[in-house]
Amino acid sequence: MLIDLHNHTKPCSQCAYLSADELVREAMRYRLDAICVTDHFLAWGGHEARTLARERYGFTVFAGVEATTTLGDVLVFGLDENFAKGSDGPELLRYVDERGGATVLAHPFRQGGGRPLWEWLQKQDLAPGAGTDDRRMTLPGLGRKPVLHPDLIHLHAVETFNGEVNASELAQAEQLAATMGLPSVGGSDAHVLRQVGRTATEFAHRVESEAELAREIRAGRVRPVRLR
Ligand SMILES: [Zn+2]
Ligand SMILES: [Zn+2]
Repeated sequence: MLIDLHNHTKPCSQCAYLSADELVREAMRYRLDAICVTDHFLAWGGHEARTLARERYGFTVFAGVEATTTLGDVLVFGLDENFAKGSDGPELLRYVDERGGATVLAHPFRQGGGRPLWEWLQKQDLAPGAGTDDRRMTLPGLGRKPVLHPDLIHLHAVETFNGEVNASELAQAEQLAATMGLPSVGGSDAHVLRQVGRTATEFAHRVESEAELAREIRAGRVRPVRLR
């Protein structure tokens, strides 16, 4: 089952130029079984898109949220809540995990949006020898036993495929996932029409609700897929 985990709609996400109707109609042109609407901070965009897609098109939308945290952006699934801007990252990961939801570190090294994680890694001495402008990094532990930092033990997956990452940002995200022994997922992060349907996540099992979606991500029965 192919699900694009990461999309935005206006007006819930102020940076988005796509209405829920436009997003759903465009997403249905690709071989997607469902999409997630993950507006910034707020859950109502996902709710409205879910209802609209079902009633108007018989298409499946799952509602999630993209939280902005001290670790960077985190996609949250399976919890029907809003998240304040600038939430404490490790705290949010724990909060969601303890309630059975799933968290995904979004576009961890992308030029736009990756800086908080980069700064956190530097603080932990996990990005050795790199200045803040040097985007290349080497994480210790790769090729050995995966290492999960205590602050990240409640994280469930890393978004490696994102509609707007370049090859080096993708490689770094893949390295991070491998280093931590976490599954990778894909999401287009669409804010405009041309970004819809670029990447998705293949789920090994069919999911029919946000709770099932979260359960499958938590179980790691997912892999990223590039669609175009
Ligand atoms: Zn983001
Ligand atoms: Zn986003």
